[in-house]
Amino acid sequence: IPGQPYGLVVFGASGDLARRKLFGSLHDLYERGLLSDKFYLMGCGRTQFSDEEFRSVVRESVEKTAQNRDVSEKFLTRMFYLSGQYDDPKFYEDIKARLKELDGKYAVGGCHIFYLSVPPKIYADVAEHLGQAGLSKPISCECPGQPRLVIEKPFGHDLETARELNRRIGEHFHESQVYRIDHYLGKETVQNILMFRFANTIFEPVWNRNYVDHVQITIAESLGIGHRAGYYESAGAVRDMFQNHMLGMLALVAMEPPASFEADHIRDEKVKLLKCIRPLEDENIDSAVIRGQYAAGEVEGEDVVGYRQEEGVAEDSRTDTYVAAKLLVDNWRWKGVPFYLRTGKRLPARLTEVAITFKTVPHSMFAAVGLDELPANTIVLKIQPDEGIKLSFQAKRPGSKVCMTTLNMNFDYAKVFGSGAPEAYQRLLLDSMVGDQTLFTRQDDVELSWKLLDPVIKMADSGAGELYEYAAGTAGPESADRLIEADGRKWRPLMS
Ligand code: NAP
Repeated sequence: IPGQPYGLVVFGASGDLARRKLFGSLHDLYERGLLSDKFYLMGCGRTQFSDEEFRSVVRESVEKTAQNRDVSEKFLTRMFYLSGQYDDPKFYEDIKARLKELDGKYAVGGCHIFYLSVPPKIYADVAEHLGQAGLSKPISCECPGQPRLVIEKPFGHDLETARELNRRIGEHFHESQVYRIDHYLGKETVQNILMFRFANTIFEPVWNRNYVDHVQITIAESLGIGHRAGYYESAGAVRDMFQNHMLGMLALVAMEPPASFEADHIRDEKVKLLKCIRPLEDENIDSAVIRGQYAAGEVEGEDVVGYRQEEGVAEDSRTDTYVAAKLLVDNWRWKGVPFYLRTGKRLPARLTEVAITFKTVPHSMFAAVGLDELPANTIVLKIQPDEGIKLSFQAKRPGSKVCMTTLNMNFDYAKVFGSGAPEAYQRLLLDSMVGDQTLFTRQDDVELSWKLLDPVIKMADSGAGELYEYAAGTAGPESADRLIEADGRKWRPLMS
């Protein structure tokens, strides 16, 4: 939607996220004509860059995917940089002055987005400084809207710190100005969960406890922690993946139909669903939540070290790299239907999917020919790497005998739409520019999900609770198998 005037300010523009995701996504949007003519970007941070030096950094990030050199060069002329210290009020006065100058140049009219691509511990400080410098309000009367603040997960470290972060940001920015990015929700195939459920009549009538046996949500990574030991040591799988991406997907899969495709209607339903998840109590945590940590092993044909041998990780670290949980949703739709969730690093393959397994038929009329146990139907929403949807059902195999086989109806996103799904950040950046908060996490959603996991986090942080070892390249600790097998079910194979 070109035309919206905006100056985008990226704090931490020298960092990994900006280089790997933000610049490339913005450049793609620009190439596709989706950014306003009035768009400009100002990088900010402690690193000393001239505008030209900063443009070289951006050029490096975008040149691999750039289609048209002239367009790229034009894009780069809209990149600027200002250096300063995040805790220095003068930095924010300088930012304000530079924004006024650039607004004049691009006729932006004072509408700004502040993207905090910096470590979470300074989010609140930067937000406060922006507020104190008057940058949380329009700096010109021509501004068509309020300035927006975009922040990246993690939103807090636990319930208490999440509340404190929300409180401090809320002193300067109204909730309608705050865009909390969970990039998983920006993925096309995650958004497609809403279309699949609510733009078709045939699935929703069976999407409940009468027909669904159980649901499995998996985010498996074959990678380890890479160079992110510093961050990961203080986070772990529960904080890094479970509190945000996994519960976010659960909410989309299980929520009631929203009244409309409006941000708050959808976000209201997500929050309502989170409120229905049965709380984890100290007594049942060990049987409902399994935490694990990878040991040395082999992944995709390569020997890899264990988590404790990774550079920057403590030799006696108790950080979880795997978590599996069984959650129950106490409402009319889902009462008694278990939701099994698992995520981990150094698993055999990279795979994200939501699998809905239906109940088996109530009676097999084929029992007389030996087919008394018929496999259940499943719908698999494949999020990555092979984006699509798969519906499995039983059919007769050709021949004179009554032979049955399981067939799959497959929708392959890349085959149908001709290319892989666009980068989630493109969608999220564009939405932040047009002011659509649908895919951004609201304050109450963040706090509810931390609240649900608070007992697990407290137990883990105090060093209590089991931390099970699993060899890298295996599907996780055996205790996680027992978690689901105790209910007579099995994890789905981790194959992409
Ligand atoms: P990063 O590379 O560690 O840091 C980004 C920038 O912040 C740095 O270039 C640096 O810029 C500044 N910075 C670093 N440490 C600082 C400190 N102690 N105090 C003040 N400023 C500091 O982080 P990132 O990976 O780009 O991530 C940015 C944000 O996105 C983080 O909140 C992260 O949790 C979140 N996130 C990142 C990813 C990812 O894929 N990288 C994914 C999801 C979420 P200057 O020195 O120039 O100021």
